Amino acid sequence: MLVLDACPLCRTTLKEGAGSCPGCGADLAPWSNIAAITASYIGNARELITEGELEKAEAIISRLSQLSDVDPQVLASLQCKLALACQDIGRARELLSRVSPAEQPVLTEQLAELGQREMLARELYNQALTSARRGEYVRGARQMEICVRHFSADPALWELKLKLDLKCAYYVRVYADLRALDKLNARPAAWLNLESMLPPV
Ligand SMILES: [Zn+2]
Repeated sequence: MLVLDACPLCRTTLKEGAGSCPGCGADLAPWSNIAAITASYIGNARELITEGELEKAEAIISRLSQLSDVDPQVLASLQCKLALACQDIGRARELLSRVSPAEQPVLTEQLAELGQREMLARELYNQALTSARRGEYVRGARQMEICVRHFSADPALWELKLKLDLKCAYYVRVYADLRALDKLNARPAAWLNLESMLPPV
């Protein structure tokens, strides 16, 4: 539970659990409620990120950023964790400097790990591209299957994966590839009605 440590009106230092301000006499109950609501939002957002419910977490975090009394470092930490969970390396790096010094080492490490996974994914993508050019579609499809397990936030990876899955007639995977592209809001126009051309699975 978040505790008001100073009067929101006159900034007088408060004792824990004070019902009114000793400086200006303001009733502190409504302010304590806002603090409690804010604290519960922060807790919910953390849980949702852990559970992978990233859209819900994002909705709460964007609402939190509109509340005036949120600690900017706490907000930056939540935004940075969300960016890491969304595999948005650029945004996570940008937010890192605004996170509290205590949290920076852990998040820096996670960012480095994500960067390594992205590099590995790029390598697999290049290998799969070579396989595809040689007509080795099954091998390419396998390489892309591993690739997106390491990094899944780049539509270009899903596009190559989908082409290879189509070549191999892996239709269940093609449907999943399309869902992944839709989640990234990145389905190419040429594939808007692809489902209607696929055999049912
Ligand atoms: Zn006061």
